[in-house]
Amino acid sequence: VLENRFVRHCVSIDDFTESEVLELCRSALKKPPAFRPIDPAKPAVGLVFLEPSTRTAVSFIRACQRIGLNHVLVLSKGTSIEKGETVEDTLRNLKAMGMGSFVIRTQVTGGLQGCRDLGLGPVVNAGDGVGEHPTQALLDLTTLLDLVHWDEGRLRALKIGIYGDLRHSRVAQSWSKLARKLGIRLTLMSPEEWRPAWAVDHDWSDSRSAIKDQDVVMALRVQRERMDGPAAAVTEAFVNNFRLGRRDLAEHQRLMHPGPINWGVELEPDWLEDPRSLILKQAEMGVLLRAKLLEWVLETKS
Ligand code: ASP
Repeated sequence: VLENRFVRHCVSIDDFTESEVLELCRSALKKPPAFRPIDPAKPAVGLVFLEPSTRTAVSFIRACQRIGLNHVLVLSKGTSIEKGETVEDTLRNLKAMGMGSFVIRTQVTGGLQGCRDLGLGPVVNAGDGVGEHPTQALLDLTTLLDLVHWDEGRLRALKIGIYGDLRHSRVAQSWSKLARKLGIRLTLMSPEEWRPAWAVDHDWSDSRSAIKDQDVVMALRVQRERMDGPAAAVTEAFVNNFRLGRRDLAEHQRLMHPGPINWGVELEPDWLEDPRSLILKQAEMGVLLRAKLLEWVLETKS
């Protein structure tokens, strides 16, 4: 219990103040985490991914490698979680085997809040169901800070539009919190069936007509694995109305997507190499931001 009062977690964007957010993202760019050799005596980072992941898992692995921390990757497949062991038991056992912090992805929305009280050390949310994905929003913000050459005034003035499957997107919910924290104006666009309750905090439209007014347009994946009947039924109409092609954005506009992309659904093909696309930059920034974040929760300065 005593430990918890001093442990920093990153379960939600709510765990950060406005100045902490800006400091973290700015320092990831301006003072990138130093490369350090692995110190085998240090506690390892437990990367527990109970839902599929490519970018998030790999960028946390690369972040650990960069700052000299051992890591252990645990997937639900092939572990005792498949035999019915609870996630709490797994985490406690990993802690006993020398994990000093945890990066966790779970299918359970809100499922990581309880991990704060287990005495596991710092817990970082790598995606909880349709809840939050704070490190994705933070790496997106770092990408945008890079775009505006670290000018916070310009960052706050950016007009950002997010379109797609908002209801099932933990990235969008973390973005909603981040935008409110920083006073950034967000415009949300989706079919009515994909409109989440938290959309009331922002401008929302059921058409994509506002895309032309945005500086940055963020596409979201249609998350078929999380959809029930009525939500799934609008996919075809969404594709016809919203799918974004290269002709649909002006020269000065930028495109983002957290990945993985459903080509031909939310985006037409051929975007990755387009100079207006920040999508690969987001992947690059993910490693830097996550390395800084691990240092921040572990309080190791470079
Ligand atoms: N990779 C992101 C996530 O895990 C976005 C997505 O899956 O569409 O939430």
